[in-house]
Amino acid sequence: MKAVAVRPGRKNSVHLADLPMPRLDEVPDGRGVLVKVLRIGVDATDREINEALYGNAPPGHDFLVLGHESFGRVEQVGSAVKNVKPGDYVTCTVRRPGGSIFDRIGRSDITSEETYYERGINLLHGFMTEYYVDDCQFVVRMPIGLKHLHVLAEPMSCAAKAVQQAYEAQRRLQVWEPKLAFVTGAGQIGLLATLILRLRGLTVYTAARTPKPCRKAEIAEAFGAHYLSTREKPLAELAQQVGKPDLIIDATGSSQVAFEAMEILGHNGVVVWTSITGGQRSIELPADKINLSWVLGNKLLVGSVNANFRHFELGIADLALGEMTFPGVLEWILTHPVDGLDNYREMMRLLVEEQALKVFVNVAEG
Ligand code: BGC
Ligand code: ZN
Repeated sequence: MKAVAVRPGRKNSVHLADLPMPRLDEVPDGRGVLVKVLRIGVDATDREINEALYGNAPPGHDFLVLGHESFGRVEQVGSAVKNVKPGDYVTCTVRRPGGSIFDRIGRSDITSEETYYERGINLLHGFMTEYYVDDCQFVVRMPIGLKHLHVLAEPMSCAAKAVQQAYEAQRRLQVWEPKLAFVTGAGQIGLLATLILRLRGLTVYTAARTPKPCRKAEIAEAFGAHYLSTREKPLAELAQQVGKPDLIIDATGSSQVAFEAMEILGHNGVVVWTSITGGQRSIELPADKINLSWVLGNKLLVGSVNANFRHFELGIADLALGEMTFPGVLEWILTHPVDGLDNYREMMRLLVEEQALKVFVNVAEG
């Protein structure tokens, strides 16, 4: 079976690997699900893994199969599987449990252990292959009516978790009625977070580097958000003009912007950081000013990573609502298809050189 893999720690090592066909009984107690892979999405995490900035091979292997944004069709299920059946379209969660109490209650997305296990990212092989087997507790059914949005399910789960974490954390205030949100970054997470916040009725300003006209702006605006280029209007200027936001979701991939967001948040507000920054960058900050305004304004910063089964369900529900509310717009995110696993070099090239909004591989028809 073909698979696309890297050698973690070695730059630009993406290559085609050969894997044995997985078997249903690799998962005990009849809980196995065999999935035929149809499409796999890639994102900045895959790029950083191929740049040797991030990710680790499974123990005993010198390669890591890529792919954590999966979409496929169930081929076969074990005798104990109830939540999916052959023929169903499915996606799959990424993280697998370790040993902490959070892992044991189905919240591996907030494991308290330093070591985390993520398919296609850290210590576990991913889905960029022809078939995979996993435990049914990690396999999430995609409604057939959302089949055309396939690989967006995983990034949407991360965006759904980020927004949900903000609301959960803000229960500290007893009442929180956010009206104004800034989303920094208009990659897939930024745009999907924009959608979720618009569906909740917030006024949203989505800010990214690229000036208009551009596809990102068209999508954000079609969701009813305002789009602006930070090259033309820095965040501080935006806040002066429209007010300080109640909520900022940062999905830029830039630690500098993540900290800049702290300088413009409104009182009682919350900033959610979602970017993975594998580099070594340092910056200077007006630390006294930030410290003072954060204490006087009772402000909160939350980091959010990954997503569990429930966040996938939340995300899928919002994909459905988004599709009904803004018909056809979500598909505009799916910009760069690549045909077949054999074209893995083209996949990486698009990811690195083109700064494409969304690169995904069509692995099989269906
Ligand atoms: C993935 C998450 C993962 C995170 C950190 C992201 O690209 O979508 O599932 O938890 O990287 O490794
Ligand atoms: Zn990802």
